[in-house]
Amino acid sequence: MTSLARRLIVYFVLLAVVPLIAVFLGFTAVIERSEQRRIDEGLQASLRSAIATYDQELLDAQRSAERLANTSAFQRALLHRDRATLVSLIADSPHLRLNSGRLRIGKAPAYATERRVEIVGTKGSLGELIAAIPLSSSYLDHLAIVAGIPSNEKLVLAHGDSVLRSASLSSGRAELSGSGIGSVRLNGKDYRVAVSHPVTTRGSIEVAIATPESRALHAAFSIEERLLLLLLGLLVLMGMIAFFEGRGIVRNVGALAAAARAIARGHLEERVPVHGRDEFASLAVTFNEMAEQLEERMKDLELERGRLRDATLRFGEGLGASHDAVQLLRVVVESAVGATRATGGIVIGPQGERFVAGDPEKGKERSEWSLRAGREHLGTLILTSDEFSEEELEMVALLCGHAAVALDNARLHRIVEKQALVDGLTGLANRRRTESALDEEIVRASRLGSELTLVLLDIDHFKEVNDRYGHAAGDAVLKELALVLVHSLREIDTAGRWGGDELALILPGTDTTGGAQLSERIRQTLERSRIPIEGGGPISATASFGVASFLRAGSRERLLAAADEALYRAKGAGRNRVESADGEPVDPGVVE
Ligand code: GH3
Ligand code: MG
Repeated sequence: MTSLARRLIVYFVLLAVVPLIAVFLGFTAVIERSEQRRIDEGLQASLRSAIATYDQELLDAQRSAERLANTSAFQRALLHRDRATLVSLIADSPHLRLNSGRLRIGKAPAYATERRVEIVGTKGSLGELIAAIPLSSSYLDHLAIVAGIPSNEKLVLAHGDSVLRSASLSSGRAELSGSGIGSVRLNGKDYRVAVSHPVTTRGSIEVAIATPESRALHAAFSIEERLLLLLLGLLVLMGMIAFFEGRGIVRNVGALAAAARAIARGHLEERVPVHGRDEFASLAVTFNEMAEQLEERMKDLELERGRLRDATLRFGEGLGASHDAVQLLRVVVESAVGATRATGGIVIGPQGERFVAGDPEKGKERSEWSLRAGREHLGTLILTSDEFSEEELEMVALLCGHAAVALDNARLHRIVEKQALVDGLTGLANRRRTESALDEEIVRASRLGSELTLVLLDIDHFKEVNDRYGHAAGDAVLKELALVLVHSLREIDTAGRWGGDELALILPGTDTTGGAQLSERIRQTLERSRIPIEGGGPISATASFGVASFLRAGSRERLLAAADEALYRAKGAGRNRVESADGEPVDPGVVE
């Protein structure tokens, strides 16, 4: 049983059973009192009837005494003091006594009411006749019959508040009310009793009428029984109504609770049935509406989550897949627009490059984010939308954080990549890069059949520079030469450090003559340059050049060997000169 059902039972007991018990108890008290009153009234009516009958019989006795007193036979017998005749005449009328001088006939009964009748003769009063009705128990029984007293009521004698069961038997003391009604215990039994005013001539004896007290209780009990049945019927009816109503309430509440539990477990499609049009029905309707909205909201959230997951995935993939800053900036703006439902966005790179997603002109709100890693400014993201939510802004902040890290990684990667291919001292391509550039150009020249010239050059007496001016001065010479090379070469040419003080020039689309001329120009520029060094005046340096053509050499090894051989020759021929592998002399004048 649920706690709600238990509580409803308690309410039912409090609201129905308790008041019904109170009503029953109240009614029984009223019934008992009214039954008592009814019986009391009955007793008083019976008593009045008995007294009236008794008075009537007394009157009859008085009349018969008057009649006797007036008869001449009686008066004659009285004058002659004829006792025998008088006794016989009086004996005809019971309860008569004669008082005449010293002549007295008849005995006075113990309890009786008397009427005196004067016997008046021709010569005045002859005496008196006394008519009396003795209140014996047999007379009381006779009186009860004559007065029509019900059999369950009994006439008894009373004296003051003492009720006498009969003239001779036990008596009991009654608590009498002002109207002469009360209760008394006679012979171990309780009686209800109504007592008259004194009726006897002597001794103040009263007539009382008694009935067993249990009569009132019996009468009340039978009414109470019916009342109890009625109330029980009512209780059963109320109980049934309460049971069915309560069961309905418990079922409705149970259905709502079960549906709420199901929704809490994630079954958002759960609904409760709607019966009727009462408050439970409206609660069920409201509950269903709430569940529907919750389901809709969850669907929206699911979509939103999917969208965010996709955006984050794409963003993560985009960031992880590339170290290309341009690519990254594009991913950043597209992901940010996708993740926030922005109408559009622009990202501006550190060099002012711009990438657009969506339509940045649309949207009322504008949100600008700086992409920074430490002090490094890596770009600016600008988003436009009709309205940015708190979550969307948090999302953009998160994306910008990751994007800044990725962009900074890309920047560092570029630096490391560059460092891996660039010679640290001269800023020219290093040996690895120079070799790969040579390989690439050889492939291209082979495919296109175009010219390709390789120049190897070496600083003259470089060891001496180091020895005389120090290693830093040697470095300065190397840097100066690199500067001359950078200024002398075209975009498509590559200058690289081949090793130590030896450098290589890869000149695509250039034949040996062109290569030699370029070398000569470099040679002369270097020769003329004055190189400042620490702790001393400027110094000058020269270099020797060996020029070789790939078309002529035919292979990588032979090209390298030819260039090397030409350089060797330049060194051998006195240094500070250009030697061509095909032996063609280089005319310094042409270069000038
Ligand atoms: P030669 O004219 O025959 O080439 O004479 P050389 O003194 O230049 O002889 P070589 O080419 O054999 O000497 C190379 C010297 O270059 C040796 C080494 O100390 C120096 N060197 C190599 N790399 C560097 C560098 O990065 N900086 C400095 N300062 N010196 C370097
Ligand atoms: Mg050298």
